[in-house]
Amino acid sequence: SGCLYIVGTPIGHLGDLSPRAKAVLAGVTVIACEDTRHSGQLLSSLQASGRKLSFHQHNTRTRVPQLLQALSEGESVAVISDAGLPGISDPGEELAAEARSAGFEVICIPGPCAATTALVSSGLPSGRFCFEGFLPVKGKERRQRLEQISTEPRTTVFYEAPHRLLPLLQSLAEHCGAERPLQVARELTKRHEQQVGPTIAAALEHFQTQRPQGEFTLVLGGCPAQTPSEHDDSELLARLQECIAN
Ligand code: SAM
Repeated sequence: SGCLYIVGTPIGHLGDLSPRAKAVLAGVTVIACEDTRHSGQLLSSLQASGRKLSFHQHNTRTRVPQLLQALSEGESVAVISDAGLPGISDPGEELAAEARSAGFEVICIPGPCAATTALVSSGLPSGRFCFEGFLPVKGKERRQRLEQISTEPRTTVFYEAPHRLLPLLQSLAEHCGAERPLQVARELTKRHEQQVGPTIAAALEHFQTQRPQGEFTLVLGGCPAQTPSEHDDSELLARLQECIAN
């Protein structure tokens, strides 16, 4: 039976499409694209002749069974998103899960991902990190998520739309303190690639005067280890004295 290929495509620079991704896209019989028009140019430049199907968050439910059917008929299926790795804040996760549980082979042809690209260029600790993708836009869910993040010791990576960048920076300043290390990666791999940091305060200052335009990935330093306060020390001392006295 067929094989599902999850294919990474560039997040900006077309030179980042791997030779293996090109070969797979040119060879498969079905290509599920987040947006067939967006990917049309890339695919025609590769002379990829597979059947193109749209595959996005609004038709996932009907498309997944169709794609599984194609796999069961021995077709090879590639899934691509508008940019980067499918399944990372993009459609793909459900298809991979269903294909795997139905017993089909699932192979990722790795490629660029804005989260890891921003992480390793931020200079912030990358040994342990979390990915939050897009935060809920408002309400209790957003607040709860921000509260969790504020005490998270690992580096955290976020995606955000340009018109929501300032509100996100403000929320992060409120919950984590404006002096927390932060690196904002803008337009990674593109002509106007830029890094703004090194703190939330510095990013706020920059984007309050320069209107945010383009694509943004944020890398937030983890919460520093808590040093015990004087209050905690005296409490501990009192308990020790109590133990000794008894
Ligand atoms: N699947 C993609 C990946 O692997 O990176 C992410 C898709 S998500 C819908 C799009 C978000 O990724 C953007 O809103 C932005 O936050 C981030 N992003 C994508 N390309 C970027 C780039 N060139 N520079 C900075 N951030 C980028």
